[in-house]
Amino acid sequence: MANVHSKPDDTLRVLVVLAHPDDPEFFCGGTVARWSSEGNRISYCLLTHGERGADGCEIDLQELAQRRRLEQQAAADLLGVEQVVFLDHPDGYLLPNLELRKDVTRVLRQIRPHTVITSDPTNYFPGRLRINHPDHRAAGEAVLAAVFPAVRSSLYFPELETQEGLKPHKVQTVFVAGAQHPNTTIDVTEFMHLKLAAIAEHASQIDDLHALHERVRKRMLDEGADAQMPRYVERFLRIDLK
Ligand SMILES: [Zn+2]
Repeated sequence: MANVHSKPDDTLRVLVVLAHPDDPEFFCGGTVARWSSEGNRISYCLLTHGERGADGCEIDLQELAQRRRLEQQAAADLLGVEQVVFLDHPDGYLLPNLELRKDVTRVLRQIRPHTVITSDPTNYFPGRLRINHPDHRAAGEAVLAAVFPAVRSSLYFPELETQEGLKPHKVQTVFVAGAQHPNTTIDVTEFMHLKLAAIAEHASQIDDLHALHERVRKRMLDEGADAQMPRYVERFLRIDLK
């Protein structure tokens, strides 16, 4: 697939809205690094703290939430992200309900991004023999519903405007990561070291960093490129809104 878009057209502000700490780095860390290096202003909004990203009944959810918050901030700092917002919905139980849609609409109206990156709500089985995390699907569902139509009309969640002064806003472009049917490929070869370093910041989630990095490299390898000069890409479904 052609590398048709190296950066979003005329974009100054980009908002990445995903379910868990570490999702941005896995889903789009190379693109974030690239766009921030090109002068775009990137923000993250994480819908949960990822406090169930562990196993065992002795886990202190609040402690893990705090640790993951710090890991996410450190990863975001490496990629040049300006700000990280946490909405604190329950990890693992995320639902694309009106409460979540309103919370996302509020953040969209506050940050007023030209471009939004989120996940694919229709992708149940990414790659081979994997079940997508339900929070990833719920996040995509809620974010797309906030982008269109809630954020752009005063008639949706009118109290956001009347009580909080948050005026409607039009998002211009959506990049859906982890998409079943991507139509856009972004070359992030030069930014792979930053993506891998940012992934490494999520130490609470990693057993074998070397093996993880290898898996990420393999998944991102551009198979059309010269084997002597490997290229790494992130793929998206890009939607330009009217
Ligand atoms: Zn996740």
